[in-house]
Amino acid sequence: MSFSYDTKSELCRIEPEDSCCKKAECYGLLLCAKSFSLSSITLMTEHARVARRAAQFTAQITGAIVDVRTAVSYHRSSYTLTVTQESQRQKVLSEFGYSGQEISLRINHSNLENDCCKAAFLRGVFLSCGTVTDPNKDYHLEFILPFMNLAKDVMAILRDGMDFHPALVNRKGYFVVYIKGGDRIADLLALLGAGSAAMELMQVRMLKEVRNNVNRKTNFETANIDKTVSASVRQVEAIEKIRDTVGLANLPQELRETAELRLEYPELSLRELGQLFQTPVSRSGVNHRLRRLVEEAENLK
Ligand SMILES: [Zn+2]
Repeated sequence: MSFSYDTKSELCRIEPEDSCCKKAECYGLLLCAKSFSLSSITLMTEHARVARRAAQFTAQITGAIVDVRTAVSYHRSSYTLTVTQESQRQKVLSEFGYSGQEISLRINHSNLENDCCKAAFLRGVFLSCGTVTDPNKDYHLEFILPFMNLAKDVMAILRDGMDFHPALVNRKGYFVVYIKGGDRIADLLALLGAGSAAMELMQVRMLKEVRNNVNRKTNFETANIDKTVSASVRQVEAIEKIRDTVGLANLPQELRETAELRLEYPELSLRELGQLFQTPVSRSGVNHRLRRLVEEAENLK
């Protein structure tokens, strides 16, 4: 199952502590569903638990009769919660302070009685119209809302005293409120109550960082090895030129030893090469002698 699906499963295991929070979550579930008006109250989801939870909360909070239908198509199931009778829809709407005739659907803040209710409301909104991308692919969480003003209200709640930096985009006639960034999404998931999902996201993020560091280091080391090899090739060419013209025997003792060792061990680093001298020579000492050999060879031209 997807990361989003698993996150919703985790959220559906939460039992709201206070009745105020249960009502707030129920409100988020219904308000941000497919429709919430006198002519239709409908929530559609691919998640059986979300449908069951929404139906249960709606019945408990509003006393309305709700209907849940399952549609099974060849690769997935979907669940549709509806309040079929107008009298029952009236009941639900008035419970949350609506007449059903509103021109523009907005958040009614009197349903978020206490501070604790904000997180519960957002949980309902996420279960109803939210998705979160697999953190292995991207850090992206979004709410897909049917109305502009409702989207703006959801955004205002996410901004109120919190650091989520939501943005809004219009996609195929829907209003998408989205959040980017691993830290922010992990914080929001934790706020909603999905501690395991938040933890999983942080772990993926850490692994990615470690992997990037390793890659960077490997690239760096490879570059260094390339540099060593190409320097060694130049040195060996120079030494062979001297050998074939003036002869190594005519070099000063220290340069002759350096030349012979380099010819024998072209793959060694300067430090390693320095260890092989009769009297060990430092890295910079070896470097100095090899440079003299290269200059010597250049003077032969
Ligand atoms: Zn509450």
